[in-house]
Amino acid sequence: MQKLSYLFILVLLMSLGYANSEKIQENARDFLEQYTQQYQKLYYNAAKAEWKSNTFIVEGDTATAAATQRANEALANFTGSRENIEKAKRFLEHREQLSDLQIKQLELILYEAANNPQTVPELVKKRIKAENEQNTKLYGYDFKIEGKSVTTNEIDSILKASSELEQRLDAWQTSKAVGKVLKDGLTQLQNLRNKTVQALGYSDYFSYQVSDFGMETPDMLAICRRFVKEIWPLYRQLHTYARYELAKKYGIDEVPDYLPAHWLPNRWGQDWNAMITVEGFDLDGALNDKSAQWVMKQGEQFYKSIGFELLPQSFWEKSSLYPLPPEADYKKNNHASAWHLDLDDDVRCLMSVVPNADWYETVHHELGHIYYYISYTNPNVPLLLRRGANRAYHEAVGSLLGLAAMQKPFLVAIELIPASAETNQIQLLLKQALNYIVFIPWGAGVMTEFEHELYAKELPEEQFNQRWWELKKEYQGIVPPNDRGEEYCDAASKTHINNDAAQYYDYALSYIQLFQMHDHIAREILQQDPRSTNYYGSREAGEFLRGILEEGASVDWRTLLREKIGEELSAKAMLNYFSPLMEYLKEANKGREHTL
Ligand SMILES: [Zn+2]
Repeated sequence: MQKLSYLFILVLLMSLGYANSEKIQENARDFLEQYTQQYQKLYYNAAKAEWKSNTFIVEGDTATAAATQRANEALANFTGSRENIEKAKRFLEHREQLSDLQIKQLELILYEAANNPQTVPELVKKRIKAENEQNTKLYGYDFKIEGKSVTTNEIDSILKASSELEQRLDAWQTSKAVGKVLKDGLTQLQNLRNKTVQALGYSDYFSYQVSDFGMETPDMLAICRRFVKEIWPLYRQLHTYARYELAKKYGIDEVPDYLPAHWLPNRWGQDWNAMITVEGFDLDGALNDKSAQWVMKQGEQFYKSIGFELLPQSFWEKSSLYPLPPEADYKKNNHASAWHLDLDDDVRCLMSVVPNADWYETVHHELGHIYYYISYTNPNVPLLLRRGANRAYHEAVGSLLGLAAMQKPFLVAIELIPASAETNQIQLLLKQALNYIVFIPWGAGVMTEFEHELYAKELPEEQFNQRWWELKKEYQGIVPPNDRGEEYCDAASKTHINNDAAQYYDYALSYIQLFQMHDHIAREILQQDPRSTNYYGSREAGEFLRGILEEGASVDWRTLLREKIGEELSAKAMLNYFSPLMEYLKEANKGREHTL
């Protein structure tokens, strides 16, 4: 009898447990459904308001900024609400009874909540206000050279092309002037961003951002430092090469030990590729007689050629793709970006496309984001997981397709350069290294270390500029052209420092991942030399990409890398790609003094 009753109780308990588990799954499903519905509505409203704030900037208009602020607040109130935090936490206490997808969504809800916890509503409100004010100052800033307003495109053109050092210095100083007006805002944001995430248990904003990779700060810093170390021998050669070649170009006899910032063809010295014009590879020249519209359509045609659909009509209607006419009485943000406004079918690009090589590459890059959005917008990926496998994947995919579109066989296939053109392969490789390799000490070095110190070590504002230039010198071998005291805030001249905080290593990681993917596509799918591929028209390459894109964040990013490419995160593919360059640079730098 006793035995029986034990058995009875056991069966009863088991069935209760079973029913309980089903019940929990069902309750979680209901909660996630309701959450998702409300989230999408508020997210869409906020994205639309942000869109207007970025594409229609009118001096003296405070209404747009206020509307954006209200929409962001409504979203923040919801994602950070006590109720959502408590419910997500409670469901996660029973994680063994939930599906993997449910767990991923609930964890994401908590991650989102930490940015806006309504346990500290005043703090969140202040932070959002400070962020909006910072954006308005940044994008509404009137850059002036000798009293005349200039666009950032015009500044970039001077830095890329001019050999007059005085003109270059003017342009460079103009580009940094915006930092001064952003310094106070950055100091405020440093404090507010940290305090906000601390309310949900993160130590600081940097570690909060890192947690999105399922990692902790020391691991992320170690990875970034390892990448810098791995590419350092090549960077050192590039640095010496640039010092001597640029001194020659500017007619300076005494080659400086470090690169003066205004010598380089980029406002931050993050990309030096404009130093090199590859013979037989004059893409700027070839695009000169094309229109900006042609560049856009060409990008779309490429994606179609590898098996993706044409862009939806709404993309063309709603995007902001070209520079504003000079008579326009408003401004727009000139920084290229791709948007997924409703996490469903409203995808748009914000660009200022003109027909040149940079924008040609940028168009292929941004459309990579757009096709990523479109691919993971499918019934297998819950709306909350419609994002890159990690934040770096999105950039990796964009940059991969930008790189692919710049390779000679690709450009020959779309008749931008003639097949008969004799291109100097080593010059081409040098040009690419001046972009991809040069970026690593900047992205994984300066930006990552600075933002780590800014948030995790609460760098005092009276050291912002000093520390910035110490890091610039240490990691990039770049020095300012004149004294840059603390009245400047040169770090804040970089968009991301203001509005994409503490996640810049994403770009460095994305370059690493991009070469891993590219190496795989070149060798395994196209069976071509990775330095000379043509993706155009390859359905197989498209198929492989789609396999990665359509998963979104519904799988773990490490697993995805392992399953699709068979590797862990590694700079090996990147270094292999550039390996022929080392010998060439050693030869070119013979008799030159290295200072790094
Ligand atoms: Zn991008």
